[in-house]
Amino acid sequence: MSTSGKDGYDCVIIGGGPAGATVGALLASRGHRTLILEREHFPRPHIGESLMPQTYSTFKRLGMLDKIRASDFPRKESVQFVSAGGKDSQPYYFTDRDPGEWSTTWQVPRDRFDQMMLDNARDHGAEVRYGVRVEKVIFEADCAKGVTVLDGAATCDIHASVVVDASGTAALLSRQLGIREPEPRLQNGAIYAYYKGARRDSGRNAGATIIIHTQDRKGWFWFIPLPDDTTSVGLVAPPADLFSGRGNDPLVTLETEIAKCPGMKRRLAQARRVGQAYVTSDFSYRATRTAGHGWVLVGDAFSFLDPVYSSGVFLALKSGEFAADAIHDALVAGDMSGKRLGAFERKLTSGMHLMRQLVYAFYDTSFSFGRFAREYPQYQDHIVRLLIGDVFNDEVGEVFGVMGDWVDLPPP
Ligand SMILES: Cc1cc2nc3c(=O)[nH]c(=O)nc-3n(C[C@H](O)[C@H](O)[C@H](O)COP(=O)(O)OP(=O)(O)OC[C@H]3O[C@@H](n4cnc5c(N)ncnc54)[C@H](O)[C@@H]3O)c2cc1C
Repeated sequence: MSTSGKDGYDCVIIGGGPAGATVGALLASRGHRTLILEREHFPRPHIGESLMPQTYSTFKRLGMLDKIRASDFPRKESVQFVSAGGKDSQPYYFTDRDPGEWSTTWQVPRDRFDQMMLDNARDHGAEVRYGVRVEKVIFEADCAKGVTVLDGAATCDIHASVVVDASGTAALLSRQLGIREPEPRLQNGAIYAYYKGARRDSGRNAGATIIIHTQDRKGWFWFIPLPDDTTSVGLVAPPADLFSGRGNDPLVTLETEIAKCPGMKRRLAQARRVGQAYVTSDFSYRATRTAGHGWVLVGDAFSFLDPVYSSGVFLALKSGEFAADAIHDALVAGDMSGKRLGAFERKLTSGMHLMRQLVYAFYDTSFSFGRFAREYPQYQDHIVRLLIGDVFNDEVGEVFGVMGDWVDLPPP
């Protein structure tokens, strides 16, 4: 099906990460002329390796399940929190509430996973061009008409009925439109590196994501098991604590903090680092709208929420899925208004707000999930459902009515 002008596309997508690949696969499989423009050459490294179980239904719709099942990606069945003193808490096992395969998920090396997702989009009929950087979105009278790209040394314009920004934290369009707003209370940064030979737990805990508080509880470590005995280790904290002092060497900061953290130190005692340390900063933020006339934002290009619950790829997939359905309806109706293209906005932002509230609870140094669970055991299931990613229903949000008495929660 093509509803575009004679030499344009129905949809052009900026960025071939998980969000862009999801929109691309779902639109192309419904017959729309779809082009994905990716500035890098894949495979390329990317942070964000731990998935949430509720990615399952999107993988199923994308035809990705068999491809991931056939991989060597470790199965993730739980999340475990470890105190600053090194005390392990009881893991949150996703399968305890529902034993199906959909209650487990995977830890994914992003270079390979993102390549699989983009190959899948191409297999569904999307055209994918690598090494092409989008410079800007073209507007005529407030309506997006296409993009200007830099391909090698040449620039050219590509026209489309709908422009999707899936450019990740580059957030090309929300910056161009000046609608990107930081989330002041969640301005963290991260230093991360990869290790071989880390001490893993066994059995159903072998693939768990482990979150370990730093001593001052202002920051935390992630420990994510990947294939080939590689473990992703990262430190998240306010940028002032990460990037000042210690000669401004991120690797020295990371390894000094590991040495001070009993829960991390014992896991890495026999491990050796492979490769350099990486840094990233300036999260979190969101755009004030998901869509306008002829354009839609998905994934990190719309909003980035602190990574403590590993919600990024899940939200990239879900927003990509919601957006693809709205774009399909808009193309069929020939109505590219912001109202129609952003028909999913309330559902997406309500779900993200539940996740945001749980993030605020994590960073409240006076709040304890353990104490809360002992006082309100009836809400334990709500917490597990949030950790799974079951956020697109109102019922699970009931927990925040009570948690609001313990934590200063953010407004919607
Ligand atoms: C420290 C940290 C830890 C994280 N940990 C996790 C985790 O454990 N689990 C999790 O689910 N998420 C995690 N995330 C979040 C996760 O990385 C993102 O949410 C996820 O990658 C978003 O997918 P996306 O497709 O929106 O963007 P991306 O994956 O960033 O893809 C965007 C693509 O757009 C391309 N692009 C950018 N600009 C242009 C342009 N101008 N023209 C063409 N192409 C362009 C880029 O090259 C890139 O390939 C973490 C993030 C951080 C910062």
